Amino acid sequence: MKFSTKAIHVGQEPDEQTGAVTVPLYQTSTYAQEEIGKHKGWEYARTQNPTRSRWEQCLTSMEGGVASFAFASGMAAIDATLRLLSSGDHVLMAEDMYGGTFRLAERVLSRFGLTFSYIDMRDVGNVESSVLPNTRMIFTETPTNPMMSISDIGAISEIARKAGAFSVVDNTFASPYLQRPLELGADVVVHSATKYLGGHSDLVHGIVATRHHHIADQLKFLQNAAGAVPGPFECWLCLRSAKTLHVRMDRHSENALRIAAWLEQHPGVIKVYYPGLHSHPQHELAKQQMNGFGGMISIDLGSMERAVEVTKKLKIFCLAESLGGAESLVCHPVTMTHGSVPLEQRLRLGITDGLIRLSVGIEDIDDLITDLAEAL
Ligand SMILES: *Cc1c(COP(=O)(O)O)cnc(C)c1O
Repeated sequence: MKFSTKAIHVGQEPDEQTGAVTVPLYQTSTYAQEEIGKHKGWEYARTQNPTRSRWEQCLTSMEGGVASFAFASGMAAIDATLRLLSSGDHVLMAEDMYGGTFRLAERVLSRFGLTFSYIDMRDVGNVESSVLPNTRMIFTETPTNPMMSISDIGAISEIARKAGAFSVVDNTFASPYLQRPLELGADVVVHSATKYLGGHSDLVHGIVATRHHHIADQLKFLQNAAGAVPGPFECWLCLRSAKTLHVRMDRHSENALRIAAWLEQHPGVIKVYYPGLHSHPQHELAKQQMNGFGGMISIDLGSMERAVEVTKKLKIFCLAESLGGAESLVCHPVTMTHGSVPLEQRLRLGITDGLIRLSVGIEDIDDLITDLAEAL
């Protein structure tokens, strides 16, 4: 079965009892048991919910793994993944990760005996030489937020395998339609499903998938033991969204490529970061491991004043955090999403005061370009 057929049908077979074509929403906390020790496999809704299981099945098939686990948010999914580790373990992380992942690592998990190094993962040699004897996880994000840098999933997974460490990829920006890390060798993939998987800016949700049964067993245990599970309605909305993921991602990518090329020619724009452009230093790698370049673009406008002016003038692009919805959004990483990244690190990465990040939606391309042209 090809991707779009899986996205529409796996886990989404018509309801056996009624024939309902969409998966029922099982809004329940518990399940009646026939007699002590005898039940239908459903006991308590933190542990199992049928709507959630169907969505997990669907995501597993889209990512090409053996199992998936849904969580209340992307951060809860990332937290559960890091809890595969124990005190004393070391984690290699990409230095330009999502700010919230950095905050979780530095301000929370480091208090429990995990240590972290933040490195430039664009350079595979750098990843290899940064592995310590106690490195148990290599956690990367590609493309990164907001600098759109790309890391080589296959090569990094191989380094992790040799080191006896888990390789984890935050696949939020690409979605499983554009990039499937498990097929490229990663052990675990995490998503903020709040973004493209949800796709309509109407939910907060996270999910983890793996291609190993032993990791799946641990994740299942963690999902139930720590209990950061989503409600069934979010799972139901994700099932609804999965059906259009491929169509949405194609349009996001098409619109973003047109806009990035247009911005690159604009005299008011100092720099455009988009992996689909030939000028992107890792364009070739992006082409190899992705089936399209997605809807995220960052641009440097040169100063805070200019960023304020342009974002104020935009009419269709709405100033808001988050990304991945049908509607176009714009954000200012320094004051919005990346406030928790230390100044020195931010500047080294290129997250300047003049940087704005566009989440290109699936509106009409001419309207989007007109909006940008007028604001610039
Ligand atoms: C938004 C985001 C997260 C966090 O997910 P939430 O659903 O907001 O908890 C993690 N990683 C990336 C790349 C993100 O964009």
